[in-house]
Amino acid sequence: ATPTALMVGTGRGAQLGILIKGPEVLESTRRVDTVVLDKTGTVTTGRMEMQDVYAAGAAEGTDEKQLLRLAGALEHASEHPVARAVAAGAAERLGTAVGRLPTPQGFENVPGLGVRGTVEGHAVLAGRERLLAEAGVTDLDTLTPLREKAEAAGCTAVLVAWDGVARGVLTVADAVKETSPRAVRELRALGLTPVLLTGDNRAVADAVAQAVGITPDAVYAEVLPQDKVDVVARLRAEGRVVAMVGDGVNDAAALATAELGLAMGTGTDVAIEASDLTLARGDLRVAADAIRLSRKTLATIK
Ligand code: ADP
Ligand code: MG
Repeated sequence: ATPTALMVGTGRGAQLGILIKGPEVLESTRRVDTVVLDKTGTVTTGRMEMQDVYAAGAAEGTDEKQLLRLAGALEHASEHPVARAVAAGAAERLGTAVGRLPTPQGFENVPGLGVRGTVEGHAVLAGRERLLAEAGVTDLDTLTPLREKAEAAGCTAVLVAWDGVARGVLTVADAVKETSPRAVRELRALGLTPVLLTGDNRAVADAVAQAVGITPDAVYAEVLPQDKVDVVARLRAEGRVVAMVGDGVNDAAALATAELGLAMGTGTDVAIEASDLTLARGDLRVAADAIRLSRKTLATIK
């Protein structure tokens, strides 16, 4: 491969909004046959909004205001798209500014599961059912039907407990990016198999997959952040040449493990650093452009 032709490919990439780490990246891009797509922030906008608030009746002393105040305050300490939606939605419903919610003590982020911390003297948990179950929260079964109802509607359920008792469910949802269905069609037209990978629940993952045209057998849901890399490694072990597209801190290891890592330019610095290519506009169609470009560039060289 002549360095000049590769440099030309790199320059053309910049025009298309593809930032390439080095010309040699184009070589691996050409051989890719499988594209693993992170859901939140990659296929979807990642701009989640709070939908519904359910205070569980069984737990005494739970009212909607307290549920919103404690969960909103705790989530305000997290950067996660789900957390931002909870904090903003809670503040709005309480008629206050997000910054005026109380500051939690001993805040802890539990990757892929949720958050914990103390708010106004209450030990609060917010996140997936598993987070609350592992903490031994009581009355958790009162929240299960609420979670199931939310998930059936395509929402992500945030289960909330404080002082060891399950208290309620807040639901959030975001939208599929307008350009994502077309991007998936373009990737398929290039002969690539699209795969969806997410820490979110199965029902939401399936709904998003269906909306963009990814088949149910190519959906990996409820995958913990540290296990995303295993999915990529397993696909590679099957002999596939894998590109991974992601945006989050959670995606960094998987991006680095894939033959080719593509970061959304709208994503976190950690994801961008772990990647070979950055898609400047956060538009998934640019991933197809990148593969098309590398094939063309390398065909010219041969
Ligand atoms: P994704 O793979 O879709 O980018 P993550 O792995 O970051 O998502 O998170 C997986 C799931 O963990 C979320 O869908 C949500 O249910 C839960 N979760 C993660 N962080 C939080 C949080 N701060 N508050 C509530 N739930 C959370
Ligand atoms: Mg993401």
